[in-house]
Amino acid sequence: MASYEDEDHTQDYLFKIVLIGDSAVGKSNLLARFARDEFYSNSKSTIGVEFQTQKMDIDGKEVKAQIWDTAGQERFRAVTSAYYRGALGPWWCMISAGVRLLIASADGLMNSTVRAVTCLLTHSDMNVVTILVGNKTDLQDAREVGTDEGKALAEAHSLFFMETSALDSSNVKAAFETVVKEIYTILS
Ligand code: GDP
Ligand code: MG
Repeated sequence: MASYEDEDHTQDYLFKIVLIGDSAVGKSNLLARFARDEFYSNSKSTIGVEFQTQKMDIDGKEVKAQIWDTAGQERFRAVTSAYYRGALGPWWCMISAGVRLLIASADGLMNSTVRAVTCLLTHSDMNVVTILVGNKTDLQDAREVGTDEGKALAEAHSLFFMETSALDSSNVKAAFETVVKEIYTILS
């Protein structure tokens, strides 16, 4: 079984996760909720911090998830160049928080960035685990995309699927755990 170590030599595994998707879908808040149990109702565009790490316990093993946040127009280039530099290797999981529950069309449900990166990675020789996340489930009155529609799209692209709310915390931990557990399973 492979094992990765970082500078403190304590964790058994280091998994790298990247958040991609349209602006304002809640990527930064999903990370803030997961890593710090915080929420920002008026969060500005992502600046500064490139990633945060969060320790998780999977089957009694300490797994460290290094979660990369991405922002704005640079997101696709940042993700791909990091990928080509090998900076995010050797294992990647991708939380595609690029789903707006407020988008009516199925096409808009998975934006072009998510599609492009998913395509790039699924056609590479790298093992990738991807989850499509529909965030902001607390805004039920504004929902225009049904759970079944999101689920069907995810299935069509072989992605995991989960609906979350960074505001009320529902499924946030579960979404990150889904990909981390899947990678752990693949590795072990
Ligand atoms: P990002 O551009 O994808 O990083 O999106 P942000 O995390 O900055 O969130 C954009 C806006 O949506 C902010 O005003 C957040 O407060 C809000 N937001 C994020 N997640 C949720 C959620 O689960 N529920 C609600 N109601 N608002 C959210
Ligand atoms: Mg952001």
